[in-house]
Amino acid sequence: MQSWIDGHLDLAYIHQGCGDIRRAPATTENRCVSLPSLQAGGFGVVAATIFIEPGINAASNPWGYEGSHDLAGAQRAAVAQLAIYESLERDGLLRIIRTAADLHAGGPLGIVLLMEGADAIADAADAARWHARGIRMCGLTWAKGTRHAGGNAEGAGLTSSGREIVTAFDELGILHDASHLSDAAFDDLLAHTTRRVVASHSNARALLGGGQRHITDAQIREIARRGGVIGLNLYGKFLASGRAATIDDALAHIDHVATTAGACAACALGSDFDGGFAPIDVPEGLRSPQQVHALLPLLRARGWSDVDCSGFAHNNWLRVLDESLGRSDLGSGDRDASAAARDASAAARDLSAQKPRSARC
Ligand SMILES: [Zn+2]
Repeated sequence: MQSWIDGHLDLAYIHQGCGDIRRAPATTENRCVSLPSLQAGGFGVVAATIFIEPGINAASNPWGYEGSHDLAGAQRAAVAQLAIYESLERDGLLRIIRTAADLHAGGPLGIVLLMEGADAIADAADAARWHARGIRMCGLTWAKGTRHAGGNAEGAGLTSSGREIVTAFDELGILHDASHLSDAAFDDLLAHTTRRVVASHSNARALLGGGQRHITDAQIREIARRGGVIGLNLYGKFLASGRAATIDDALAHIDHVATTAGACAACALGSDFDGGFAPIDVPEGLRSPQQVHALLPLLRARGWSDVDCSGFAHNNWLRVLDESLGRSDLGSGDRDASAAARDASAAARDLSAQKPRSARC
């Protein structure tokens, strides 16, 4: 069976709000994600979020905090989700991936901790503390914006604290996630880092009309040029506007990203399953981790090779995570000669992987 990596699953949020992820749900009305369903689908690694939401009542929504001014509330909500992952790890049900070696180790589901919205990070020094607790990917904001960056619902750029944190992430080896950044914040991020950037769960704006939630063709090209990936989001409203989405719409987004990037190596999965929408809101035929396999024969029918298909399912995320976790292994950013050599060879690998293809990919 093809193994998979999902670049975006709100596991702790699902556990808090939709039901115990240690068990498959009795019905798939509210959720499809559980540790058993991920295992059955062949998912060995996922990016699992620490997602906290500004402006909602924390008493009834443990992921909530007041807003950007509420550092203590944001930290409480983020630590509560981290504690869920740590507890599941202590029980042997998953393992938190901290190093490149961890990425390749066997065992239960591996999770790369992805902070979605960074109001729980006070400043650059605090970024190092979160790295020590396991964070290896971060999007500076969710839709509504944070102290550090404008979100896709509003439009400001990076703030001075955001720029300092970007620099700290580069030194620590924390991978930048551009999903949910406003266009201005996206541009600011690229201006402040030369490192790889991903969009963990974003689709092609060109197929969806306006709004900043999804990425433009220029952004796709820049992410690909830096060797990053774009994770396909399976929420129907993010695949087609004004009508029910189908599996063909999902394929159209993948194809658009591949064609725009000039390489299938830029395409990956960032399903966002159960992340604020139910399985019924996903195109029929793709409504669970077990069903995403259906995409592969359809991609082959569109001219994708077996290598391209494995890249989409698994190897493209693996390449990006391997490289960024390799940086993270270096700790505070002290770079030695062997690390520089490894970077150079990774860049060369990426370049050959991203060579424009003549066939439709
Ligand atoms: Zn999101």
